Amino acid sequence: MQDETEKINILMVDDNVTNLLALETILEGPDRNLVRATSGDEALRYLLNDEVAVILLDVYMPGIDGLETAALIRGREKSRDIPIIFLTADSTGNRHIAKGYSLGAVDYILKPVEPDILRSKVAVFVELFKKTEEVKQQAELLHEKNLELENANLERLGMLIELGQQLAAEHDPARVLEKFCDAARDIVGAEHARVGVLDGHESRLRYFFRSDSDVLDGTNNDAPQPDEGVLGTLINERRPLRLSELDNSLQAAHLPAPDAGARSFLGAPIFHSGHVFGWLYLVDKIGADDFTEADERLAVTLSTQVAVAYENARLYTEAQRHATELQQEINERKLAEEERARMLIREQAARADAEAANRTKDEFLATLSHELRTPLTAILGWSHLLQTNKFDEKSTARALETIERNARSQSQLIDDLLDVSRIITGKLRLDVIPLELISIIEAVAESARPAADAKTIKIEVALDKSASQVLGDATRLQQVIWNLFTNAVKFTPEGGRVEVRLERSDKYAQIIVSDSGQGINPQFLSIIFDRFRQADGSTTRKHGGLGLGLAIARHLVEMHGGTINAHSEGKNQGATFTVTLPINNTGRHQEVVTELSSSTNDDEKQTSGCSPVLDGLRILVVEDEADTQELILTVLNQCGAEVRACKSADEALVVFGEWSPDLLISDIGLPGEDGYSLLKKVRESEQQSGQIPAVALTAHASSEDRDRVLSAGFQMHVAKPIEPEELLTIIANVAGRSGSKV
Ligand code: ADP
Repeated sequence: MQDETEKINILMVDDNVTNLLALETILEGPDRNLVRATSGDEALRYLLNDEVAVILLDVYMPGIDGLETAALIRGREKSRDIPIIFLTADSTGNRHIAKGYSLGAVDYILKPVEPDILRSKVAVFVELFKKTEEVKQQAELLHEKNLELENANLERLGMLIELGQQLAAEHDPARVLEKFCDAARDIVGAEHARVGVLDGHESRLRYFFRSDSDVLDGTNNDAPQPDEGVLGTLINERRPLRLSELDNSLQAAHLPAPDAGARSFLGAPIFHSGHVFGWLYLVDKIGADDFTEADERLAVTLSTQVAVAYENARLYTEAQRHATELQQEINERKLAEEERARMLIREQAARADAEAANRTKDEFLATLSHELRTPLTAILGWSHLLQTNKFDEKSTARALETIERNARSQSQLIDDLLDVSRIITGKLRLDVIPLELISIIEAVAESARPAADAKTIKIEVALDKSASQVLGDATRLQQVIWNLFTNAVKFTPEGGRVEVRLERSDKYAQIIVSDSGQGINPQFLSIIFDRFRQADGSTTRKHGGLGLGLAIARHLVEMHGGTINAHSEGKNQGATFTVTLPINNTGRHQEVVTELSSSTNDDEKQTSGCSPVLDGLRILVVEDEADTQELILTVLNQCGAEVRACKSADEALVVFGEWSPDLLISDIGLPGEDGYSLLKKVRESEQQSGQIPAVALTAHASSEDRDRVLSAGFQMHVAKPIEPEELLTIIANVAGRSGSKV
């Protein structure tokens, strides 16, 4: 059964229901819907919402008649074109007929109605309506299709624009091709897309991309031969190609694997500057058996687009590479320039350092020369005067005193120089024993007193016993304190004050030497412990000295695990030097100090003049330096010893064989055989007769020298220069005559 809504409406308008029934009977049919209206109003209402194929309209009706109803129907847009057939019984009414036609009636049928005529006339309009509906539907369909196409085109256009933007933003040629490959597939609507770019003018692929795989490289084994089969055709014929299974054109095309079984193919060469340098091809159009002409145009557009984008990216990359190379070159040059500048600065600094070092050295040599010459002048001058003049006893004694004082001062300079040399070569050694700082400080203060008295400088001493015990080398610590003391006296003007304090600070002993003297300016304070530094290095400076004392002092203190620092408020504000040493808590000091004082008792040692304590002692002296030899001979002879002197080991061995001495005093550095060798031979020859005591008297004064001398078999190592009294004490000790006063 036909759906009511699909049936065609025929509107019948008559005030007479019988007439309507009659019409219904005549016009009945399966494809139509006969709609009754008994007035013009009712008909107009119906037409407001519904479509009808034809209206059968009675002319004479109460209320609005057929003609007025027709006029109103025509007056409305929706119903203007509906065909109207007037039904009238008035055969004479030409007037109505004319008006009816003028109102758009298509026909007049006179009542009584001839059924066949009416049926056939209505059938024409029904058919017409059906046809019109069909045309309308087709038009709608067409419109929809057009819309679809338009949308598809718009979408493609959008994709093309987006692709253009993406490619323009991409600077890597390979990425351009990769992105393009996927986009071309989607824009054209193919299952797969491939794009290949040749390597220059050679027929090798530089890049090859498949939209459905990760293959990135034209050199990959999966890449096709770029100029074989249909791909070769694209290159050689320089035009797009569309092939399909349908027209059998694909059979002979030789598509590369894995596309050999494709149903449709669309390829386009990629041009640049008139040269083909690659191709794009698509396989299997989605939703169709073949690619269209529009697809082909699109493929050509796409290959033009990729050509431009690829070339731009290639140029960009190349420019970028050039820029990078250029930048690298600039950077390298800049680095080289910076390095040159740094080298220049280093060189200048090194030169400045060298010049400064040279200046310091020159200044030092000038100072040294001055310091050595000053006492020398006195020594030489007085020696000469003594030789050429006859002085009375008092003047001779004064002259000799002066000579001795100056020689001592030179000896001090040489000691300092040697110490510095030992420090530089790392050869300075300490003989560390437990000791009492108090006795050292007191001894130093006493020794410094005459110089202080000469300048009416007051010396104040305040020593805390609890800070006295330290482990150290007594001689070296004495040297440090002596240096601080003599500086304090040296740089303090007449009537000033020098104070020394020994204090305890936690586990440390602090020796503080302060004075009321000229003070130290802050710049100099920071370098005061450097070697060869003196606040006043000029030749006109008032005070002597080499500028080594404090450098040596610092080194010695640090070797003791202590510190030394200097403080001064500035010019004429005095100076304070503080030495800090670790306190010794081992408790062994008492014993050792006692032991020390019994064996090195100054009172016992220091005797003036000579008593014959070495009476009858036979001493063999081996010394190649004539003056020293003579000095030793004189001193020993004065004390009653029997002395024989030799200048070499050979000579000594002869005398030793003939004379059997009680004691040997030998220099180490001798011409030919040295003192070690001599003693070795002496020891070998005396095996049965017991060992003769031997003393090495040498200018090799380091601790290593001392160790070597003792281990070679000498009983005692004595460093030159040596005081006569000291020498006598040592000899007496070694010879076992120390009980007597020397
Ligand atoms: P020297 O005394 O032989 O010149 P030092 O190393 O002992 O060598 O001292 C270096 C310099 O330090 C001295 O020349 C002097 O300028 C300065 N100095 C040392 N002690 C004092 C002090 N107590 N007061 C002022 N200046 C000092």
